Amino acid sequence: MGKRYHCEYCNKTMVAAPAIVKTHNKGVVHQKLVQEHYQQFKDPETILAEEAYKKPCNRFASGQCQFGGICRYSHYTRQEIDTLREYVASKKNLNKIQPPPSFHDLYQKLQDEKAKNEPDNDTTVLYDSNGVTHVLPWTYNSLFDSYDESLPPSIKRMKLDDFKGAEFTEWG
Ligand SMILES: [Zn+2]
Ligand SMILES: [Zn+2]
Repeated sequence: MGKRYHCEYCNKTMVAAPAIVKTHNKGVVHQKLVQEHYQQFKDPETILAEEAYKKPCNRFASGQCQFGGICRYSHYTRQEIDTLREYVASKKNLNKIQPPPSFHDLYQKLQDEKAKNEPDNDTTVLYDSNGVTHVLPWTYNSLFDSYDESLPPSIKRMKLDDFKGAEFTEWG
C-alpha cells in the first residue's frame, strides 16, 4: 500500500501522488472549503475590503449558489456589509490615538468655555412695556434666587417692577 495523503480541509484521504494531490487541490470543492476555512479567520477589515466592491450573489440569496467561498459575487447582504463597515469604523475610532491638541484647538476650547460662562440674557436684559431694552451692567448670581426675600436689597435680583415709577434725575 502506497502513501496516503489526507486533505484536512475536505477531510478526504487519497493516494499521495503529486499529480493526484495537485488535481485535488485545484478542485472546486477543495478550494471552496479552503476559502471557507480561512474566511472565519479573516478580520472584519479584510472581509470588508474583499466584499464591499462585489456584486451581491443572486443565487446565494435563493440558497442555490454552488461556489461558496470562491464565488465571485458577494455572499454578504448589504446589511451585513453595512454592519461590518460600522464595526470597522468604530474600531478605527477607538484605536485612533488622540493627537495632542493644537494651539488653535486650545484657543477654541477657551472661547467656547468663555461663551458658556457668559451671562445669558435672562439675567442681564429686561424689556419694558415701551419696548425699551435695558441691559444691566451686572450679572446676578442665580444662586441668590433661592434666598428670595431674606436677601439684602443690594444683591436681590431686580425685576422690571422695581424700575416702575422710578424718577430719573438729570445729573449735572
Ligand atoms: Zn481538499
Ligand atoms: Zn455565490
